[in-house]
Amino acid sequence: MHLKDIPALVDLKEQLIRSAHNNRNGHALLFHGSSAALIFPLVKAYCQFLACKNPLDNDSCGSCSNCIQFSQNSYPDLHYCFPFATKDKAPKSLTADFFMREWMDFIKANNFFGLNDWLDYAGLNGKSALINVLEVRRINEKLNYKSYAGGKKFVIIYLPEYLNISASNKFLKTLEEPSDNSMIFLVSEKPENLLQTITSRCQKVFVPPLSTTAVENFLISQGVDNETSKISASLANGSILEALQISKNNQSYIAYAQLFQNWMRGCYSAKTKEIFTFVDEFAKLGRDQQREALQFFMDTIELSLKAATKGEAATHPLFSQIGFKLTGFASVLHFKNSKEAYDVLSAANTDIRRNGNVKLIMSDVSFKFSNLLRMKA
Ligand SMILES: [Zn+2]
Repeated sequence: MHLKDIPALVDLKEQLIRSAHNNRNGHALLFHGSSAALIFPLVKAYCQFLACKNPLDNDSCGSCSNCIQFSQNSYPDLHYCFPFATKDKAPKSLTADFFMREWMDFIKANNFFGLNDWLDYAGLNGKSALINVLEVRRINEKLNYKSYAGGKKFVIIYLPEYLNISASNKFLKTLEEPSDNSMIFLVSEKPENLLQTITSRCQKVFVPPLSTTAVENFLISQGVDNETSKISASLANGSILEALQISKNNQSYIAYAQLFQNWMRGCYSAKTKEIFTFVDEFAKLGRDQQREALQFFMDTIELSLKAATKGEAATHPLFSQIGFKLTGFASVLHFKNSKEAYDVLSAANTDIRRNGNVKLIMSDVSFKFSNLLRMKA
């Protein structure tokens, strides 16, 4: 993984390269931001840059022996720590070592992934994952070994917020007594969940979310077609992981847009028949899809209101595709009713999560919408 393979983040990459050149990196760096799917490969590429024997001005060389080992995931001085859970045939004193083979195969096949992707891959879906104290002990041992390649040793801790309390305390000691020539990288989405004594010992690096255009270009670089990339990026709130998932699921989103269109027309004209058709169709979706659709409806309301506030015409590639003029919808929205509409949907989302009756919930939402859409500003 080269730094150039990480989408956008131009300023951050420059800053990291400067820190390396000026020897300003501490022994523990906390990379944090909303998407570990972006941070993990960035950190991996940075480790390669730091280990590279002939680094270029802005990236690792890709051809020295260390770079080759990095590209094969076999660099001996790079260690990983990640959340896991127990499963059949797992030993009692379980550490990440038990899953290492799978982890290496997984990260080799997936450059950009989320925790659930990993847990699915390892057959740990639905289990509560964590990083235990034995795992921290294992990492300490790795840090105390001599380095194989004679250079720096790296440890990447993927999602340290999964350290349980005894593991956190043990890890704090690791940070207090750093071993020679080693660097610890924490890849965190929720640094606020770490012990403050841990974060205060780390140099912090904030990884900002990507712009919609950057996400779109990223999808194109991953082989997604232009139209799907545009639609998916517009829905993903700067998250490459969400964008990738949406791009695989594009047909569902077209269906959600159609549902939304028919539903809003029914609500606006208070046509009970159309409203109940919507409620029936919505109830036929799976639970995950229902939540996904509701989130999409909420995003659409937000987008329409934003455009209306700025006096711009609301546009969205998905709605253009199905020929729905979002501007017309936005024209009946104003601050008061759109905020209420958003809250009504958000409450429905919570009720559905709690396994409430979907038909009842959505009928209720529809009649509230019917009133809201005809409310004067
Ligand atoms: Zn190199």
